[in-house]
Amino acid sequence: MARKSDGWADILQKVKRAADPETRPIDLFLETLEKAVLWTEAQEGWRSKHVHPSNLWRGVRWWYLYLTDTPRRQEDDPQSLRRMHNGIKAHERLDEYLGRVERVTDGRVRVDAIEHYFKVESLNFSGRIDAIITVMNQQYALEFKTAAANAFRAAQKNGPSSDYLWQAGGYTFATGLPVLFLYECKDNQEWFGCFPKAEAYALQVGPKLRAIQEAVTSRTVPPLCDVGCNTCVFQATCAALPVQGGADPRKTAETG
Ligand code: SF4
Repeated sequence: MARKSDGWADILQKVKRAADPETRPIDLFLETLEKAVLWTEAQEGWRSKHVHPSNLWRGVRWWYLYLTDTPRRQEDDPQSLRRMHNGIKAHERLDEYLGRVERVTDGRVRVDAIEHYFKVESLNFSGRIDAIITVMNQQYALEFKTAAANAFRAAQKNGPSSDYLWQAGGYTFATGLPVLFLYECKDNQEWFGCFPKAEAYALQVGPKLRAIQEAVTSRTVPPLCDVGCNTCVFQATCAALPVQGGADPRKTAETG
C-alpha cells in the first residue's frame, strides 16, 4: 500500500494542475482536503473503522458487517438527528458542569481529562470517555447519561441497561478504571450517580473483540446475533448471507 504521504502529495499535485489559476487558495485547500479524505477512506478500508464502546452490546455479526463496509439503511431520519442533537447539547452541559466542579470543589474532586480518547490498537477498539476524574485518591471513568423521566426512574430503580453495561465494561477493559455513571433527567434536570456492575461485561470484551477481528480477517460471516435485530440497519444485507456463519460469498465475487 502506498504511504499516506505519497497519496496526499499526489492529490495536491493533481488538484493544483487541474485548478483554474484564479482559484482562491482556500478553495484549493478545501478541494484537496475533500479528495484526500476520500482517498484515505478508500485506502484504509475497514481498518479506518474501529469498534466503539457505545455499540459494543451489538452482536459479532453486526460488527462484522459494519467493519466490512456492508451497505446499510441510512439513519439520518428526524428521530436519529434529534437524538444526536440532544446528545451534543448534553455534552456541552457536562463540560460546563465539570468546569464548575473544578472551581467549587476546592480540590476534593479533580477532573483529570475531558473527552478522554483511548485506543486499543491491537484489537481495533477505540472511543472517548466523557471524563476521567479523581475522588478521594480513586480515579474513575465518568460517563454522562441523559434520560427521559421514565427511563431515568427505571435506571434509578433497576440500574443501567445492558447496552450501557457493555459500554462500561469496554471502558474498564481499555483503561482498567472503575466507571461512574451520572444520569440527568431531561425533563427536570434531576441527577443521580451509580457505579455500574460491569465486571462480568468487562471480562467478555476481550473475547468479543477477538472474535470480531478473527471474522473480519478471515472474511467469515459470524452466526446470527442474539440481540438487536429490531433496530439493525443491516437487516436486508444480513438476510442474504449464511445464517450459521461461514465463508462470505462476497469474498468469492470480489476475488474471483
Ligand atoms: S439483522 Fe440481526 S443478526 Fe443480522 S446483523 Fe443485524 S442484529 Fe445481527
